[in-house]
Amino acid sequence: SGQHPRRVLCLMSDTGGGHRASAQALKDCFELIHGNDFVVHIVDLWSSCSPWPFNKMPEGYFFLVKNPWLWRLNFRCSEPRFIHEVMFKGYSAIVANHFAREFDKIDPNLIVSVHPLMQHVPLTILRRMKNHSAVPTVPFATVVTDLTRCHATWFHKDVDKCFVATDLVAKQAFRLGLRLEQVVCHGLPIRPSFSAPSRSKRDVRAKLGLDVEAPTVMLVGGGEGMGKLKETAVALSQTLSSSHQVVVICGRNAKLNEFLREQSWPLKMVVKGFVNNMAEYMAACDCVISKAGPGTIAEALICGVPIVLNGCIPCQEEGNIPFVIDNQVGAYSEIPQTIAQTVAGWLAPENATQLSMMSSRARALGRPDATFDIVRDLVEMIETRKN
Ligand code: UDP
Repeated sequence: SGQHPRRVLCLMSDTGGGHRASAQALKDCFELIHGNDFVVHIVDLWSSCSPWPFNKMPEGYFFLVKNPWLWRLNFRCSEPRFIHEVMFKGYSAIVANHFAREFDKIDPNLIVSVHPLMQHVPLTILRRMKNHSAVPTVPFATVVTDLTRCHATWFHKDVDKCFVATDLVAKQAFRLGLRLEQVVCHGLPIRPSFSAPSRSKRDVRAKLGLDVEAPTVMLVGGGEGMGKLKETAVALSQTLSSSHQVVVICGRNAKLNEFLREQSWPLKMVVKGFVNNMAEYMAACDCVISKAGPGTIAEALICGVPIVLNGCIPCQEEGNIPFVIDNQVGAYSEIPQTIAQTVAGWLAPENATQLSMMSSRARALGRPDATFDIVRDLVEMIETRKN
């Protein structure tokens, strides 16, 4: 299996939390650097290779996170090792054949998981497959896509490498029994477009058809357009002046997109659906209002854009709030009026120095090379395990 192209199997599941974005970032980066030498297969084993009810897991996730206390219960109760290990044993028995068939089909030179539920079951099944045949060991890496507080199932002692985004997560990995040589801290995998040399705000705004002069706020709620975006857009329009500009990125929230487009606004309100050039939109803005999603936070830091957090998914995103506050790169409030006032304060000419200091601190925390560093290490894992 040392032939070209080498195959990378990237395990993910479409349950928010930037898993798909991270998988795509790794794939894009592999293609950018190595062209046709590597093929990255992104596979959602739960949806595409599992029988019911496991193929409904992503939908279950969206139901749970919309009911925060249910999600919290689910998160906390599944953390202890003796519980999730029993659960995973059960899953493994049921999905084993489906997963094994997928592994056989792709015959990967490397497996990378970007999902907390993609360590135990795949590793168990791989171990079993190895015992039954002469299949050589496939190196296995986890890329953790949370910034601060991670679910315990992210960390499995049998992985070859575990890539984390912050020292905080590295500490959690060590606490849960991973060894020093397994854990590598490069930052969150972000699409390569965020590492392109930055152009001036004016240039990017002109390219995007935005007002080039107006102080500009981005309002976004992750890929799904979650949170009180409607109320916040209204509060911003009432608090900011007519010389300001607001860019609302609705993501896949079509209802919100439609609603916002139908209104008439007292300031420049630019409403977008799902955009594929987030790096440009970030670079065009002076600050961003977002839920505490790891992807959006990491991207804003790279672009040096201060952040107002307006909410979070319970548990795994909660720690991102003190992360932003303690590093003095943003603020937190769930109240649209308060958020609008915070932003108005940041954009006031007399606070320009303060905003630019926040922006510099953000840029210093950003890890624009993370994806490149991770991909380099992944390639090394394949090269050193030639069969
Ligand atoms: N995103 C995008 N286009 C959109 C809205 C969002 O590319 O129109 C991307 C955003 O840049 C980020 C990801 O979607 O990379 C959202 O990740 P985050 O962790 O912030 O939240 P999630 O939606 O995964 O819960």
